[in-house]
Amino acid sequence: LFGASNMDQEKKTIEEIGEFGFIRSIMEKCLYSPESVIQGIGDDCAVIGPYGPYEGKVLLITTDLLIEDIHFLMGKITPRELGAKAVAVNLSDIAAMGGTARHIFVSLAMPRGMAMDTMEEVYAGMKDLCRRYGVNLLGGDTSSSPRGLFINVTVMGEAAEEEVLYRKGASPGDLIYVTGTLGDAAAGLKLLKGELPAPGDLRDVLVAAHNRPEPRLEAGRLVAQSRLASAMIDISDGLLADLHHICEESKVGAQILQERVPVSRELSSLCKANDLNAFHMALSGGEDYQLLFTVPKKNAESIERQIKQQGHPPFRIGKITAEEGVRLVSPHGTDGEITQRGFDHFPPPAR
Ligand code: ADP
Ligand code: MG
Repeated sequence: LFGASNMDQEKKTIEEIGEFGFIRSIMEKCLYSPESVIQGIGDDCAVIGPYGPYEGKVLLITTDLLIEDIHFLMGKITPRELGAKAVAVNLSDIAAMGGTARHIFVSLAMPRGMAMDTMEEVYAGMKDLCRRYGVNLLGGDTSSSPRGLFINVTVMGEAAEEEVLYRKGASPGDLIYVTGTLGDAAAGLKLLKGELPAPGDLRDVLVAAHNRPEPRLEAGRLVAQSRLASAMIDISDGLLADLHHICEESKVGAQILQERVPVSRELSSLCKANDLNAFHMALSGGEDYQLLFTVPKKNAESIERQIKQQGHPPFRIGKITAEEGVRLVSPHGTDGEITQRGFDHFPPPAR
């Protein structure tokens, strides 16, 4: 009945193909009414257009699932922060396309005995973000869970079709920018897990970076509106992993200048005190939710000036290369290809 290769595929486990291999495996045969689909699986958002009543606009849609004990620990984040973060990480994907967020839907699975004052706080946190970014909460679904809390948020946003920035637009020679310091959230997680000691004030800043990420919607709009950039992504899984997505989709490579990777004063003090390498955390740590974008050289001066005028100058950290792979150039001039990737929910078993 079944071909042999089909049987082999069925016997494989998720760990053998990994999270991203799995996503690739489901990408085929998804479109049965493709007319309006501009981007399906494979970027920060799906893009659908033209969008209803708005001339030249497209619809951006993204969804994320957060699971207790995988994405968050109830004892390490307040319920209000958790609600806000669940929305923030989705808004970050809208920011990464250069869009404006408009509506969210929230689906929950709650374990038996879930305290209602906790859930009130979760929703208060969600609504804090909705208020701040002018977003409506329009619906969702409620179910029970055999164990732990599940929170799924879906966001709809919009953008002018010609302003949308995809992962696939980068070309050799383009300069690479990030919108803020990296590695704070990863350090915050280490502090929350008790893996490192830290003085109170450092701790507060770094833990806040992990528990209270801010989606960079304004920065994303600015980059997109300028029409001077070629590709964009949000840094959710770590600089290297997300830059790798841009390289793969654009069929290019990249060179990162290590000393240009921006690190906060707090992260560098923490690393100094604990004899750790701050750059390592900035390159591989996840959940920063800054934006990474690429810009053709001829547009660099103009976009830097425009973004600087808004008070948050971006950091230029390297350039796109024709040669594939991501290379790191250290201050001593030695360089090497980087193989470390970011977070995969299904890493291969240790050998
Ligand atoms: P991000 O980190 O920006 O949220 P992901 O790596 O989670 O992106 O997803 C990459 C792409 O794969 C997106 O287009 C997303 O919609 C799609 N995707 C992820 N998981 C699934 C799934 N289970 N079914 C269909 N599409 C998926
Ligand atoms: Mg993303």
